Amino acid sequence: MLFDLLERLSSLTRVWFRQHPLLADLQPIQLSALLYLARCNRYSNTPLAVTEYLGLTKGTVSQSLKALEAKGLIVKTQDVADKRSVHLSLTEPARALLDAVMPPDFLVTATTRMGGQAQALEGLLSDLLRNIQRSENVPGFGLCKTCRFHRQTGSGGFCELTQEPLAPPERELICREHQLAETTE
Ligand code: SF4
Repeated sequence: MLFDLLERLSSLTRVWFRQHPLLADLQPIQLSALLYLARCNRYSNTPLAVTEYLGLTKGTVSQSLKALEAKGLIVKTQDVADKRSVHLSLTEPARALLDAVMPPDFLVTATTRMGGQAQALEGLLSDLLRNIQRSENVPGFGLCKTCRFHRQTGSGGFCELTQEPLAPPERELICREHQLAETTE
């Protein structure tokens, strides 16, 4: 039953995206890559991380990233420390596009109608995801502020893994190195 509900909601989302006039030129995988890059942190914006997050083959993701670059929606920059590594970031037109279509209208309308129940549902779905991540060998990709390496500081946060400070907005991004803390905020 739960699986049927999740499947139905994800197919409704796919249909909504496919029919949106602003998204007519984007294939679903290209949109998924853009959505991921809009939410991930600076340690997680590499082609490999996009591949792991989407759970697709390297070749498929590589073609999609090339297409996004050709459309002027992402740019590649070389890592300052490791010249073989590249980082991907969204361009202004890509950010404007996502701002215009996210979150989907149908979801906003429905959750507004549900009021407090929608917040409770979000909490329960987060619990479900954490539960799956705890018991299955799946890549992290969790919210930075819920990571066991995250320490809150007066100016934002600090990553105990990379030993680097984190700006306040970075606490709200997802990270491929994330590991669940025993208790979360
Ligand atoms: S604290 Fe965890 S989630 Fe945040 S940047 Fe460090 S490893 Fe990633």
